[in-house]
Amino acid sequence: MEDQVLKKRTIIVIIITVLMMIAEIYFGIITNSMALTADGFHMGTHTAAFVITLVVCTIAIKKAGKAEQVNAFGGLISAILLGLTALGIIWESLDRFITPIEINFADAILVAVIGLVVNLVCIFIMGGDCHIHLDVDINHEHCHCSEQHEKVKENLNFKAAYMHILADILTSVMAIIGLLLAKYFELQFLDPIIGYIGGIIIIKWSIDLIRSSYKILQPLIHR
Ligand SMILES: [Zn+2]
Repeated sequence: MEDQVLKKRTIIVIIITVLMMIAEIYFGIITNSMALTADGFHMGTHTAAFVITLVVCTIAIKKAGKAEQVNAFGGLISAILLGLTALGIIWESLDRFITPIEINFADAILVAVIGLVVNLVCIFIMGGDCHIHLDVDINHEHCHCSEQHEKVKENLNFKAAYMHILADILTSVMAIIGLLLAKYFELQFLDPIIGYIGGIIIIKWSIDLIRSSYKILQPLIHR
């Protein structure tokens, strides 16, 4: 992923996220929906994460000679933040498991669906023409922007932003499954368990990213 391309895409994603944040907080307040308002503030944390991506690729463009290291450093920071978010999800899931709270299903499902749609749009903008291997070959991203499958040098800043959106999609999908199971099958206890599983998966992604970033940064540390 070229830094110039990444910069443009990140700006579009930030604009969408900020607009969603404002809309959710606004409608959350006028409809008295805590779920909507809370998700609006949650969108704020996503915005902050993508601002980091933007700052990093702006620096990478300026310091073109050191782009790989700059992007690896950005990837490292984003991966750590993603991991912390996942810990938050796990913590909240455990809390919900111990002390279940009354859920307003209509609100909660609406918020999860909005989140899913927004993130699907964002992931399409961010890397619609790229697909990332989540398996053993985690160190290579393939981009087929030009018909051919061309192996490009990995941009870890891009990868971290992409994985973040992917993690958000996973969270939304799992929330929807959990909420539907709770609403229609009275399986309330499954909602926090599903949240917990989602958190573990995201932590695994962030650890893989931290490893890849460290591999590139390591020679600089030991110099
Ligand atoms: Zn997010």
